[in-house]
Formats: sequence, C-alpha cells, structure tokens
Amino acid sequence: MSAAPRIDLHTHSTASDGTLGPAELVRAAAESGLDVVAITDHDTTAGWAPALAALPAGLSLVRGAELSCRWYGEEPPVPLHLLAYLFDPDAPELVAELARVRAAREERGERIVALLRADGIDVSWSEILAGAAGGTVGRPHIAQALIRAGLVTTTTEAFGPDWLGERYRLPKEDIDVFRAVRLVRAAGGVPVFAHPRASRRGRIVPDELIADLAAIGLAGLEADHEDHSPAERAHVRALADELGLLVTGSSDFHGTHKTVRLGAFTTDPEAYERIVAEARGVTEVASG
Ligand code: AMP
Ligand code: FE
Ligand code: FE
Ligand code: ZN
Repeated sequence: MSAAPRIDLHTHSTASDGTLGPAELVRAAAESGLDVVAITDHDTTAGWAPALAALPAGLSLVRGAELSCRWYGEEPPVPLHLLAYLFDPDAPELVAELARVRAAREERGERIVALLRADGIDVSWSEILAGAAGGTVGRPHIAQALIRAGLVTTTTEAFGPDWLGERYRLPKEDIDVFRAVRLVRAAGGVPVFAHPRASRRGRIVPDELIADLAAIGLAGLEADHEDHSPAERAHVRALADELGLLVTGSSDFHGTHKTVRLGAFTTDPEAYERIVAEARGVTEVASG
C-alpha cells in the first residue's frame, strides 16, 4: 500500500482571485505532492478547460466552483460561500445564476471604486478589471490597486476596517443559499459549505441554518481551514457528525493573494469518496 492520498478540495486560479493560471495551478498541485486537487474559482467554471488540458500525470482533478451565496434569515442578510463539486457546467439555471453574480460583482466593484475616488483615492476601475484578466472580479483585485497606489502594503491590510473590510465594503447580489444548494444538486453536483465558522472573516450563520440546508441536500462542511480556530474546527466536526454530513479540509489556496500553501489542509479519502459517490456523473473526476 502506498501512503494515503493527499487531497485538497478548495483552490483558486486567475479565473477568479487566485494568482496562478489554471494550468499553473494544476502543475503546482502536482509539484506540492497532491494526488487530488479541486479547482473552485468564485462563481465561474472558466478555469476548468485550461486546468484539464494541463493536468499532470498522476494528478486527479475535481472540477468545482465556490458560489457566492446569501442567507436572508437575518437583517442584513449574511454572505456565505458554497463549494460545489462535479456539477454540470451547462445546467441552464445554474449557468444563469453564475453569470448574474459575476455581473453583479463588476457593478459592485465599480461602485466601490467610485466611493474610493470620491474620497480622493486614485484607483482606476479599468485597471482593476484588466488586473482580473477576464476572471471573476473581487475585492482582492481592488486590494491590489490599493497596494499599487502605495495606500496599503498587504492584502490583509486592504481588508482592514479602514478599507475594503468595512469603510468601502458594499454587498453584492448573491444567490439565495437554499436556491444554490438545490441548483447544485439539480445539476448533479455535490454542495459543501465553505469555512462555515470563519468568524474572523465576518458574520457567521447559526447551526440551525446548517441543519435546514442539510435537510434539502447539503452534503458536507469544510472543517479544516486556516480561518477556523481549533475550537471552530472541532465544532464543525461535531455538527457534521450530528447531521450526518461529510467533513472536508482544504487550503483555499489563492496564490500570492494569501499566504496559505497548497495542501496546507487536506481531506480524508473517505470523505472524498463520498463526494465522488454522491455526484451524479455529469462531470467526472479527471485523471492525469
Ligand atoms: P469578494 O468575493 O469580492 O467579496 O472578496 C472576498 C475574497 O477576498 C475572498 O474570497 C478572499 O479571497 C478574500 N478575502 C476575504 N477576506 C480577506 C482577508 N481578511 N484578507 C485577505 N483576503 C481576504
Ligand atoms: Fe477568494
Ligand atoms: Fe470562501
Ligand atoms: Zn475560496
């Protein structure tokens, strides 16, 4: 028997707010000793084809996405992220929702830039869009513009309360999380709640919501993530156990936009096998 496979089910490329292209991402995944990697760009499947075309021998690719969702059970509604694996990238309703969210991100990005400019901060929306290189635009791209302008020195600082974390934060038009879970399942995919207890990133949702989502098709919870404390990881595991959900661990790699490395957190083979088994086979795991 060889050693247990190393499985990282949450990474970003330049198709959203990562800094490695999809081809570079899968090569880097192989080089860092992973056996399975999922590409999960925000609200897009644009990285799937180039990642697949560059897939190194011995690496398996799980095609996925991280959907920008919102729970409307509190005022103001709480943003949250849903990982979706192995869904049909041509499912019309899901495709339409993703396109709508990407358009809303552009509109919101432009409004954030207008707020900054109104305060005399010289950042350019066209430069920020160019920096996103056709991928899903997000606050990390605006953060880069603040760094280029010498206003902050790190992405983390750009997400502080004086900048994109609060003063210049605007909500975007996300997908209702119940609708998102149903659309992912209808598209043959497997939905997993990303970093559900990451309180250091913002507001979190109550366990009752997670129970309600489990009842309509949520498959799992991401427990091992750099934004979870050990106590938060333990809480997520216990909740998953109680609700019969699978548990994942992943890096949420974003290239140089974050410090975390590929494979910094990994998923147990049993949980991975459950995801593959629950997928309806429209999009298969690809083997290099
Ligand atoms: P957006 O999708 O435009 O709302 O921006 C959120 C993205 O910014 C997340 O997907 C992360 O990649 C990144 N992000 C969020 N919070 C932070 C933070 N505190 N420091 C660095 N990056 C962050
Ligand atoms: Fe991101
Ligand atoms: Fe996320
Ligand atoms: Zn992510």
